[in-house]
Amino acid sequence: MKKEISRRKFVVSTVGAGTGVLILPQLSAIQASGRANPIRPIIISSHSNETGRLAMEAGWEVLRAGGNAVDAVEKAANVIEDDPEDTSVGYGGLPNENGVVQLDASFMDGRTYSAGAVACLENFRHPSSVAKLVMQRTDHVLLVGAGALDFARAWGFPEENLLTDKARKIWLRWKEELSPDDDWGLPEHLQKIKQNESYYQDFPDIEHHYGTTNVLAIDVNGDIAGCTTTSGLSFKLNGRVGDSPIIGAGLYVDNEVGAAGATGRGEDVIKSCASYFMVLRMKEGIPPQKACEEALRMITDKYRKVNPDFYPSEKFVAINKAGEYGCATMKGERNPRMSVMSEKGFLRHEGIVAYPGK
Ligand code: ASP
Repeated sequence: MKKEISRRKFVVSTVGAGTGVLILPQLSAIQASGRANPIRPIIISSHSNETGRLAMEAGWEVLRAGGNAVDAVEKAANVIEDDPEDTSVGYGGLPNENGVVQLDASFMDGRTYSAGAVACLENFRHPSSVAKLVMQRTDHVLLVGAGALDFARAWGFPEENLLTDKARKIWLRWKEELSPDDDWGLPEHLQKIKQNESYYQDFPDIEHHYGTTNVLAIDVNGDIAGCTTTSGLSFKLNGRVGDSPIIGAGLYVDNEVGAAGATGRGEDVIKSCASYFMVLRMKEGIPPQKACEEALRMITDKYRKVNPDFYPSEKFVAINKAGEYGCATMKGERNPRMSVMSEKGFLRHEGIVAYPGK
C-alpha cells in the first residue's frame, strides 16, 4: 500500500513531463542564440522508401517547431505503421503462422531514462504509441499479448483487424506452398495437371520475411529518443517475440551518447544485445557508422566458431549526440540506405555492406 501512495504522488507531480507540453523556443531562436555548439535537431529512420521520407517530414515538423524528440519519433513511426503497402510494420504487416498480425514495439526517452515496450500486440495499428504510454504511464517496461491488448484498450486506442487483403494473400500462398504433405492447396488428383495460374498471378510475391523500422531523433534541447516498431518475422510461431521490443536489443538510447536500432533476424540481435553494444562503442568514441559495422562483426564472430558459412540478415542504424549517423547491413549486393531529415533538408544516406556478396 505504501508503494501505491508514493506512486500516486509521483504521478501527480509529473503530469505534463515528457508529453510535449514543454515550452521550447522555435528552432530559429535556438540557432540565433549564438551557443558555441548549437544543437542541431535531426531525425533518422532505417526506412528509406517514400513512406520513410514522409515519416521524416512528419517528425521534422515536430522538431522544427521546438517539440521534443519523443513526440517527433512517435509521429514519424505512426506514418510508417499506417502504410498498408508496408508488409513489415503496423497495419498491413505480414501475420504469424496462424494468419494473425502480432506487433512488437519499443520506445526510449533518453531525457528521462525511461523505456516502454509491447510484444505480440494484436488489433492496434500503432504499437509505438502503446509502447510510449507503457513508458510514460506505467511503472513497467514491457507488456505482452493479452496484457498489452488490455492496456491499449484502457487507453482507448481504436481496435481493428490489421490483416489487409494483400497480407492475407501472401500468408495464404505461404501456407499452400509450405509443404507438399499437408492438405492446403490443390486436391491431390489435380496436382500434376497444369492449372490456370491466374489465381497466383494476382498475389504479390513474398518479398521478404523480415522488416521493421527504427526511428531515432535529437531535439532542440539535445535530448534523444528512439522507437523500433514491427510486425516481426513473417509467419512466425504464435507468440514469438523478436528483438524490436527488447530494450538493448532492437533499440537503445543514452542521452549522453546517442541511440541505435536494429532490424533483421531478431534472434541474433537479442543474443548480442546489439543496440546496447553500438551505444557502448559510441560512448568509447567510435563513430556511429563504425559502431554499426562492429556490431555486425561481433555477431558473425560468434557464429564463425559454430558455422562459418552463417551470415544472418541484420541491418543496424545509429546516431551520436553530435548528430553523426550511420548504417550497415550484414550482407547483400546493394548498400543499405536510411532516411535523414535535419535543417539541411531530407536525404537518403548510404551505409556499408559488412559482407558483400554473402
Ligand atoms: N527484427 C525483427 C524481428 O526479428 C524483424 C525485422 O527487423 O525484420 O522480429
